[in-house]
Amino acid sequence: MPLSEEEGAGAPLAAEVVRFVQETLNLGTAVDTCLPEELRGVEGMQQLHATLWGIRRLAWALSRGELRFSTDQRGFVVGALKALQADLRHLTWQAQRIADGEYGHRVHFLGDFSTAFNRMAEQLEKNVRELRERSSRYKELSCRDALTGLLNRRAFMELATRMLEEGRPGVCIMVDIDFFKKINDTYGHSCGDATLRAFARRLRDGLRPGDLCCRYGGEEFLIFLAGATSPDVGRSVAERQRRAVEQLQIPCDGHDLRVTASFGVSGIGEPAEDNDIGRLLEDAVRRADVCLYAAKSAGRNCVEAETGSEPPQAAPRPDAAGTAE
Ligand code: GH3
Ligand code: MG
Ligand code: MG
Repeated sequence: MPLSEEEGAGAPLAAEVVRFVQETLNLGTAVDTCLPEELRGVEGMQQLHATLWGIRRLAWALSRGELRFSTDQRGFVVGALKALQADLRHLTWQAQRIADGEYGHRVHFLGDFSTAFNRMAEQLEKNVRELRERSSRYKELSCRDALTGLLNRRAFMELATRMLEEGRPGVCIMVDIDFFKKINDTYGHSCGDATLRAFARRLRDGLRPGDLCCRYGGEEFLIFLAGATSPDVGRSVAERQRRAVEQLQIPCDGHDLRVTASFGVSGIGEPAEDNDIGRLLEDAVRRADVCLYAAKSAGRNCVEAETGSEPPQAAPRPDAAGTAE
């Protein structure tokens, strides 16, 4: 159908508008194009021009991840881009929280992206939880003696040192199973091991939760009575432990094994501020060992405690004799 006269006159203008809109949307320039002279008089053209450039700038900023770019343009397209921008900003915040260790964050927008993001966060949370559990298990294991489950010597010394550093006094008790070699020689190593495990459990069960007990070496154990002020306290604890050990029956390979143990007790008074805690503890352990040697010399199955600051004098040690079943 042929165009009316008015339509015919408007056709070049409409074509010019189309060309201008296409150019504004598709032209690869970052600089605002000017509204052509011939379109300046067209009603609403200035507004359309501003809107198109608002969309371009916002889309360009978004494509480069500039999430703080702001525009006062309105409308459906700008609104959708602003919503995307707000979502990305929120997502960035969530990612930062996760980076700070708050692994519980999840997002519920952006469709497939949210699903992938949440899966990543869940996996991260699970991996971190497993790593933490494994690390605390290894840390715990590194502090323990594998056979008895008691503290090992290093962990014991660290913990006792920490308690003394807090200014609390303590008492050391060195314990050694009597004639233990005979258990191994008579019943075999697995019975020896079973004896060590049962003995360790009996020692630990006889102490308060705050006290420390470690396997010091082979069949020697060391106890730290936290807060105990004198070797006399240690003597009565050691005496109680000695009697408990006497009562112990250890079933192994059809035998009921019995053991006794000897105990040496030394005290560490309240540490002074200028004390070298490490040396104080090492010295107390050495003195407890001297007392233990005295207990062995006195016939075994007994307790020797230092009086005041002096450990007892040890008599010559008698030869090892047999152990009773
Ligand atoms: P005493 O009364 O003088 O202490 O005599 P004893 O036989 O207990 O002492 P001795 O030092 O002669 O022997 C200790 C034995 O403990 C020797 C060693 O083979 C044994 N032993 C050390 N560690 C373990 C272990 O983990 N398992 C077993 N089964 N035996 C061990
Ligand atoms: Mg022994
Ligand atoms: Mg020994």
